Amino acid sequence: MKGTPSMGEKSGKKNMIYCRRCGKRTLNLNKSKCASCGYGKSARMRHYKWQKKIK
Ligand SMILES: [Zn+2]
Repeated sequence: MKGTPSMGEKSGKKNMIYCRRCGKRTLNLNKSKCASCGYGKSARMRHYKWQKKIK
C-alpha cells in the first residue's frame, strides 16, 4: 500500500462518537469528553493558554 491506507477506520474500534455540542466525531468514549470543544464531564469549553481567541 502506498500513501495513507484507509484513514478514519482506525483498527475498526469505535472510540469516538459524535459530540452533541460541536457535531464533530470527537467525543471520546473512554474519557467521555470531546477533544474538540471539551464537552462531557465539564460544561466549560475546552481552552488552553496557548490558544488564541476562539470565535
Ligand atoms: Zn464537541
